[in-house]
Amino acid sequence: MSAADSHTRTVDAFSAYLEGELPPEEKASLEHHLATCIQCRTSLERFRRTLGGLGRLKRTAAPYSFLADIQQQINRRSRGRFFRRRWLLFGRIPFEWLSLAMIVAMLVYYIVVLQSSPTGVKPIPP
Ligand SMILES: [Zn+2]
Repeated sequence: MSAADSHTRTVDAFSAYLEGELPPEEKASLEHHLATCIQCRTSLERFRRTLGGLGRLKRTAAPYSFLADIQQQINRRSRGRFFRRRWLLFGRIPFEWLSLAMIVAMLVYYIVVLQSSPTGVKPIPP
């Protein structure tokens, strides 16, 4: 068997190996390969960490808490700019809300002026 074949088989066996489902002779062969191949050891470590991450996600598998977890992470990474609790959001960025209100007010004003303007073209009724 060539080295390339061995690599492929090793990667394929990682999942079964980590779940303890690999037959003893396969396991021994895999462990022998891992002992001699840093490339596959690195791959296995990465694979194991990925599975560990998935395991953590599964434990908090309810869609709500999953979503909340993502929001919490975004909140942390954005230093609290996104997904804060609503009342904190209002307290924290009043200027953003003020400018949003201004834009809405200007839009309403613009629409009202356009529609009531004697020279303006009135929209065709549906
Ligand atoms: Zn290898």
